[in-house]
Amino acid sequence: MIEQYDLGASVAGPYNMLAAMQLAKARTNALRAAQQQDTPVYNALKTHGGPTRAAAASMDGFDFTSHLVGGGLREDAISGLAPDLHAALSGMYAAAPDDIRQQLYITSAYRSPEVQERLWNDALKKYGSAEAARKWVAPPGRSHHNSGGAVDFKYGNDAARAWAHENAANHGLHFPMEWEPWHIELAGSRG
Ligand SMILES: [Zn+2]
Repeated sequence: MIEQYDLGASVAGPYNMLAAMQLAKARTNALRAAQQQDTPVYNALKTHGGPTRAAAASMDGFDFTSHLVGGGLREDAISGLAPDLHAALSGMYAAAPDDIRQQLYITSAYRSPEVQERLWNDALKKYGSAEAARKWVAPPGRSHHNSGGAVDFKYGNDAARAWAHENAANHGLHFPMEWEPWHIELAGSRG
């Protein structure tokens, strides 16, 4: 049994292939465990420090495919995320109860500056001035989405929204803007 602390460690180089393989296996197990919460593996992980930490370590294996909608479907939406955010988000998804996870969609994640420019121009038209548009859309290059540091959820129901807000902090995440209850970033992302 690999201790839960080790599950989150990164392997620095090819000099330790065995450790890398063990780590990959542990991550796969952790993900499987988080998805099937009554397995012996899950219970073992729980004993070793709780499902949340173990689930967070499973990031490499988390498949967001069935949770992507809208702008989340862009090819670079997930791959363009900052690794830390990707890891935290993966942990959050892996830890979510099945019925919640199914209602938690990603409608935007990484956005290239080109995509941001399109959104910005649309917002300028819609809100009439840069000042008004700025509340809802950042100018090109200025959005946390452009650096892979933000994700927008689409909630399938109120329970999914409530769960996300109650559990974000457990996964090192937060919703920095009260008026955008769907926009999540790493905790401390704004100083
Ligand atoms: Zn956002």
